[in-house]
Amino acid sequence: MNEEISADNPYSRLVALKKLGVVKNFDEIRKYSVAVVGLGGIGSVAAEMLVRCGIGKLILFDCDTVELANMNRLFYKPEQRGKTKVQAAKETLEAINPDVLIQGRHMDITVVSNYDNFVQVLQSGSLDGHSAVDLVCSCVDNYNARITINMVCNELRLTWFESGVSEDALSGHVQLIVPGVFACYSCVPPLLVASGIDESTLKRDGVCAASLPTTMGLIAGLLVQNTLKYLLQFGQVSNYIGYSAWTDYFSTMTVKPNDSCPDANCLHWQKVVQMEQQNKKEQTSQD
Ligand code: ATP
Ligand code: ZN
Repeated sequence: MNEEISADNPYSRLVALKKLGVVKNFDEIRKYSVAVVGLGGIGSVAAEMLVRCGIGKLILFDCDTVELANMNRLFYKPEQRGKTKVQAAKETLEAINPDVLIQGRHMDITVVSNYDNFVQVLQSGSLDGHSAVDLVCSCVDNYNARITINMVCNELRLTWFESGVSEDALSGHVQLIVPGVFACYSCVPPLLVASGIDESTLKRDGVCAASLPTTMGLIAGLLVQNTLKYLLQFGQVSNYIGYSAWTDYFSTMTVKPNDSCPDANCLHWQKVVQMEQQNKKEQTSQD
C-alpha cells in the first residue's frame, strides 16, 4: 500500500497519526475485525468511525429498515428510506473507505432459528475467516437483544462492549465485558429486569422514546475510543463509563463478575480466569 501522505491517499490521516507518534502501532488497526450489532443512533455512527479509522473488517447486524423518523439521528439520509439499515450502511461505509471489508446480516438476532447463524458468523468473523471476530460492539436498544449477545459471547469467550442511551436521551453508558474477568450482562441485570418490569410496557403506543444525535454521538465516540484502546493496547480501557448530559458528569467503575451468575458459561470462564491468574502469579514468583 502506498503510505505517502497526500490528498488522494485515503490512509493519509492514519499515516499522519502514526507519524505523530501518538499511537505507534496505529496501522495495525487494519488487522482487526469488529462486529457491530444494531445500526441505530449509536451503531451506525460507531461503524462510520471504525471505517474512517481504517478497521480491517466490519460485520454489521440489524433487523430494521431506514425510516424518516430516524433523521433526528446521525448517519442515514432521507433518500435511503425503505432500505434495510444493513444495506444502507454498507453502501455509505464502502464509499467512505473501500479498503474495509464489510459484511452485512439483515437479521433479528433474538429469533431462535437465527441463533446458530449468529454464532457461526461471529465465530468465523476474523479478517481471514479462520477465527472469531476480535470484538463485538453491542449497539442494540433492548434487553432481549443484549442478553442474546451476552449468551453468544459467553459461549465463544468473546470480548464485547455493551452500550446504550437512556429513555430520556440525556445519559448513556459503555461497558466492557470480558467473560470471566468483568461482570457479564447476566451477572448484574439492569434494575428494570431485577424489579420484574416488562420492558415493552414502558414504551407507550404513539409515544416515541426521546432521542438526541448529541448523546448518541457522544456514546458512539466513547465506544469507538475504547475499542481503539482495547485493540491497539494503549491508554486505559474503562470497565464501565457512565455519562450524564445534565451535569456533564462522567463516571467510571469496575464491576466484578457474580459467582452466582445464571449463565453457566460465565461461571465456567470465571473459574478459568482464576486459574489463569493463579498460574501467572506462580510463574512470576518463580522468575
Ligand atoms: P426507535 O426505537 O426510536 O424506533 P431505533 O430502533 O433505530 O429507533 P436505536 O437505539 O437508534 O433505535 O438503535 C437500535 C438498533 O438496534 C436499531 O437499528 C434496531 O433495529 C437494532 N436492533 C434492536 N434489536 C435487534 C435485534 N434483535 N436484532 C437485530 N437488530 C436489532
Ligand atoms: Zn455473568
